[in-house]
Amino acid sequence: MTTATGHEDWRADGACMHADPDVFFPVSATGRALEQIAQAKALCARCPVRQECLDFAYEHDVIHGIWGGTTPEDRQQARLRARRPDREAESLPVTTTPGAHDSRARTRVT
Ligand code: SF4
Repeated sequence: MTTATGHEDWRADGACMHADPDVFFPVSATGRALEQIAQAKALCARCPVRQECLDFAYEHDVIHGIWGGTTPEDRQQARLRARRPDREAESLPVTTTPGAHDSRARTRVT
């Protein structure tokens, strides 16, 4: 299957293709890493293959790095929400995560 721009591999169309990889693999979720995460998410927000990237991360249980505009913590929270019984999930307050395109990562329980 080819992407919208004719590539076989969606990664070739990624907005991060020539970006600093360190930005997408911050060493923590605090301090300077927060700036890196924000930079990565900004790139992902305008990436033409964001959905493919996010799908790949979920399908392969990728636990490190920013994929499809989500951090490992974002994806872990989405996985946990998906496993909760509906009644429990309905009772929790939910906020919208700006920039998240995938429905699995669109909401965050606070
Ligand atoms: S969504 Fe983000 S991490 Fe994925 S290919 Fe695009 S820019 Fe790279």
